[in-house]
Amino acid sequence: MIDHHCHGVVRRDLDRAGFEALLGEGTAGTFDSAVGLAVRRWCAPVLDLPEHAGPASYLDRRAELGWREVSTRLLSAAGVTDWLLDTGFEQGSLTGLAEFAELSGGRTHEIARLESIAEEVARTSSAAGLFDGIEQAIRATEAVGLKTIAAYRCGLDFPLVESPPVRAAEAWLRSGGGRLTDPELIGWLVGTGARIGAELGLPLQFHTGFGDPDLVLHRADPSLLTGFLRENTDTSIMLLHCWPFHRNAGYLAHVFRNVSVDVGLAIPYVGHRSTAVLAELLELAPYDSVLFSSDGYGLPELHYLGSVLWRRAMTQLTDTWIADGAITPADADRLIESVAHGNASGIYPRI
Ligand SMILES: [Zn+2]
Repeated sequence: MIDHHCHGVVRRDLDRAGFEALLGEGTAGTFDSAVGLAVRRWCAPVLDLPEHAGPASYLDRRAELGWREVSTRLLSAAGVTDWLLDTGFEQGSLTGLAEFAELSGGRTHEIARLESIAEEVARTSSAAGLFDGIEQAIRATEAVGLKTIAAYRCGLDFPLVESPPVRAAEAWLRSGGGRLTDPELIGWLVGTGARIGAELGLPLQFHTGFGDPDLVLHRADPSLLTGFLRENTDTSIMLLHCWPFHRNAGYLAHVFRNVSVDVGLAIPYVGHRSTAVLAELLELAPYDSVLFSSDGYGLPELHYLGSVLWRRAMTQLTDTWIADGAITPADADRLIESVAHGNASGIYPRI
């Protein structure tokens, strides 16, 4: 199985507050939720506890085993052979590519964030050299794909900008560089990433849908990318997460053949409802455009749940279709395999 979007795990033991802080996208999550139930139902047995063990016993056992053993067990139980790691966020406290590979027993590959590349170049560049510098840095990446978090910085309704926006760059550098939020610069950066991605065989991932609280949800609706998608039909575009706009994303994949979609992040968080979410995505999205990801971040529980809940949802869903006479068992197997790994290996040529 290929997990085409996830992050590292935290390299330290966690108390209840630390664990629950990572069990949600807000400032703190809680065991008293769909993902909390899923941790108790699915992760507890991997730590030798009975299903549905209570939060206190779960966290005691976790502390007893230590973060390294817990991560090794949960990541290897996920059954993933290749992990595509977004290394652009809070990397200091998380496992990097090599350590993650060691813990999981799988291969790891890097996804490079466009905004991080631009911010790194801006640290040492003049306004005159900025655009060439960014372009060269994107071309030099050894990553297997690019990612943009434009949804967090200015929203997905960023302008389409072909010529380098010199004034915006001067203003950004004059204010000391740092976090890039200017819509014009982001429009240029994403357009440049898409162009280079098409040349070099690097898919471009977009964060869409829900996420951390610094997001304005309605500006993360992937349908805001419609104009951009019309102009960039040669780049493989990946719409990540998508919930609650996964039906909009499915429509975009339906009308733009270079667009792929996933419901990573949503799968672990909606827990036992993941079959319903996946069913909605598969209403309109062509089956060769759907990929698997967990978007696991910080807690190896999230990587494991992404995989186990996805397998369960796909099996439940296709069993219903088979019972309905909508699909043959052989076609259902082919569908599951293509979403689990076949589609990703076609879309990421560098893996
Ligand atoms: Zn992510």
